[in-house]
Order: sequence, then structure tokens, then C-alpha cells
Amino acid sequence: MPKHILVVDDSKTVRNLVAFILKKEGFRVTTAEDGLDGLEQLYNAGDVDLIIADVNMPRMDGFTYIKNVRENEKYVDIPIIVLSTEGQDKDIQQGLNLGANLYMVKPAQPEKMIKNVKMLLG
Ligand SMILES: [Mg+2]
Repeated sequence: MPKHILVVDDSKTVRNLVAFILKKEGFRVTTAEDGLDGLEQLYNAGDVDLIIADVNMPRMDGFTYIKNVRENEKYVDIPIIVLSTEGQDKDIQQGLNLGANLYMVKPAQPEKMIKNVKMLLG
């Protein structure tokens, strides 16, 4: 069974690009366009193995999203990668403090992203 990855980003271009890169590696991909949609997709799918989340999004930003995911005991251990244009130390620190496993700054190298995904999926 291919691992299932949820990509949460309000940019359609980023969603499509990241999904393309992941699918090429054989992963199953679901996308969501903001944090609220991301929660809904996570709950509906029930079998998400890893989440890649943007920070700046309408309705629910990525930090609030991560907080909500981690508050649900079912998802305390699900690997989360932040993929954001916000690359200041305070942003990275906040993302990691909220429970993200890794913080990647856009634009991310596809090879590096795949490497990180595979590492977190162990
Ligand atoms: Mg965004």
C-alpha cells in the first residue's frame, strides 16, 4: 500500500507541484486548500501517513492547523512538515514548538523534500 500524504496549501500551483513530485515517487496524495479543509480531509481520509502544510492560508493558517491536529490524540504522532515562505527563526521555532517535525522554506528542493518525507515515514 502506498503511503498517503496530505498536502495543505492555499496556492494551487504549490499543491499541484508538490502532489506531482510525491506521486512520481509512488505516494498517494490528497490536497487541501486551507487549514479547515486540511482538518476535514484528515478526518475524512482516516489513513493519512504524513502531512505537508503551508503557514499563510485563509480561514485557518498552518500554525493553527498544526495545533488542531496535535490536540487530537489520534494524530499526536503523525509526521508534519511545514513548507512555507516564512523562513525566520521565530517562524521555524513556532512551527516546531507547535509540533511540526520539520520546517522547510520555499522554494524547497524536490529531492530534499522526498528525502525528508521518506525519513519521517521511516
Ligand atoms: Mg500560502
